[in-house]
This record gives sequence, structure tokens and C-alpha cells, in this order.
Amino acid sequence: MSSRQVISGQTRLLGVIGDPIGHTLSPVMHNAAIAELGLDLVYLPFPVAAANLAAALNGFAAIGLLGFSVTIPHKQAIMPLLNEVSAVAQAIGAVNTVCRTAAGWYGTNTDAEGFLAPLLALNRDWQSTTAVILGNGGAARAVVAGCAQLGFSRIQVVGRSSDKLAVLRQGWPDLASLTVHLWEELPLLLPNATLIVNSTPVGMHPQAEASPLSHAEIQQVQPAAIFYDLIYSPRPTQFLQQAAAQGATAIDGLGMLVQQGAVALSLWLEQPVSVAVMRQALLDHFAQKSQQALQSTRNP
Ligand code: NAP
Repeated sequence: MSSRQVISGQTRLLGVIGDPIGHTLSPVMHNAAIAELGLDLVYLPFPVAAANLAAALNGFAAIGLLGFSVTIPHKQAIMPLLNEVSAVAQAIGAVNTVCRTAAGWYGTNTDAEGFLAPLLALNRDWQSTTAVILGNGGAARAVVAGCAQLGFSRIQVVGRSSDKLAVLRQGWPDLASLTVHLWEELPLLLPNATLIVNSTPVGMHPQAEASPLSHAEIQQVQPAAIFYDLIYSPRPTQFLQQAAAQGATAIDGLGMLVQQGAVALSLWLEQPVSVAVMRQALLDHFAQKSQQALQSTRNP
């Protein structure tokens, strides 16, 4: 695979919009998969301020962009500007992938599929699963959608604000398995949990030494439970280290990150893409970053 892509007169465009966008890892994994397929296509970061969202969409249509990823702060704001929004994106309340179709812009959300991929690889029967989801933000909504898709018997979302929990609950009015809980209720929920998902930022920089659950709380969980942290850096998080020490199955957020991207790229390209190449590109990127960080502490 060449490290530098040749841009021609026919090179087509994909990209990601956000504000800020400098931190995005999407170009790393998407361009690696595009290079592996040998396509004359490039995926670029586009900084788009909230006030310019509609103008950016018109510009993308004018230049024939094939599609784009959407990140903070546009995931909700873009929805009314699209021609069609998928049912899963409507349930989650956010769009992370937009495709150009004959009928205009089609928005969907690939996070739920990304979340499910590492679970499906375990090849289990999920019907009797009791999921406890820590946090009630955007990622938690994708997790709820994924758990609902697999038909979990109980989906219990834990948050700090009863108002925000009530709003999340309203997103799935017909989903009887979904209940919402304040953190104080955790001692009642943990002993019955068979899947625990961290969808809070607790455990990532600048809280890399923290865990959303205390040692005592982790010990209330049955050892056969699966611990799933959506955080992909650091790997493993404190939460997953605690789980592994207990002998539990631990899943980190890298698989979800790669899989949600792979689903989006295969939608734009209308062909399968290499998840392994995308994953390796991210691992190489992380290794390079930690090498640079090490060098800068040695040579400040
Ligand atoms: P978000 O919308 O900001 O939601 C964060 C949630 O965490 C909120 O419910 C927030 O509670 C809660 N929270 C924050 N700090 C907390 C604390 N100290 N104690 C308890 N709860 C706390 O963020 P998000 O987009 O859902 O992302 C959440 C995490 O998932 C991040 O670490 C992100 O990197 C990760 N993520 C990973 C992937 C992937 O592909 N692997 C995809 C998306 C997100 P309040 O609502 O009360 O503030």
C-alpha cells in the first residue's frame, strides 16, 4: 500500500465535517481502506462551523461529493437539512453518515452496527441479556439501538440527570425492555447485569486513571458478564483492567470505531471494505503518536 495517494483530475471526494475537526481519526482509517482497494478517491477533513452547515451541504452537492461523515456539533443539526433519514438514525436522534443518492442526501447512523460487531463475533444467544449502560449521551443512544436490535430482555440506562434520562426514554416509546435509572440505583442493577457498557468519557484523557465503577461495584457483577468500554484510547482502560482482573470478558471501543467507519465506507462505495486494514491503520497511528509523545518527554 502506498503511503501517499496520487490526486488526479478524476479523483472523487469523501470527507468528515465537524468543528473542531483536527482530532478526527477517520481520514487515517478511510484512506487506508481506499488505498487498499486502489480507488481514485480521497477522504478529507472539512472544518464546518455550525452557521455554515447548510452552505456546506449545498457546496458538497455542487462539487459532487460522494458522501461524508458527521461529527460534533452537527450530528443532530444536520437532520432537518437532509432529504431522507434512516429509521435507526431517527431512533438514535443523530446522523453520523450521509450518502448522496439520486433523491438527494440520505442520512443514517452506523454507530449501532459498529457497537454490535464485536458482540456478534462472540456468537452468543442475546435474548436473555440484561444490559446496564453507563451514561445517557449520544453513544449511549446508539448502544440502546444496538441492544434493541438484538432483542435483549432488559436494557437499563444509568445517568446523572433524571431529565436527560426521561428524554432518552421518550426516544423508544414502544421498547418495553428499556428502563432508565439514576446512579444511586446501581447496587440493585449490577448483580443481574450480563453486559455492562461504559458510554461515559470516564477513563479517557484527562481522566485516564479513572473508572466509572469502583472496585467494590465491579465485584458486585457476576464474573461471566461482558464488560464493554466504548473508549478506544487508552487501551485497555481502568474499567477493562478491573474487569479482566475479575476474569470477565472485556471489549474495548476500537472495534466499534473501526466497524462504524467500515459500514459507512461500504455504503458510499457500494462494495465491501477491509476492516482489518482500517484497524491496522489506526493501531499504526496510535503507535506513532505514543512514540512521538515519548520522544517529546525525552527531548522537551
Ligand atoms: P456525550 O454525548 O457527551 O455523553 C457522555 C455521557 O457521559 C453523558 O450522559 C454524561 O452525563 C456522562 N458523563 C460524563 N462524565 C461523567 C461522569 N464523570 N460521571 C458519570 N457520567 C458522566 O458523549 P458520547 O458521544 O456519548 O461519548 C461517550 C463516550 O463514548 C466517549 O468516551 C467517546 O469517546 C466514546 N465513543 C466511542 C465511540 C467508538 O466508536 N468507540 C463512538 C462514540 C463515542 P450527563 O448527560 O449528565 O452530562
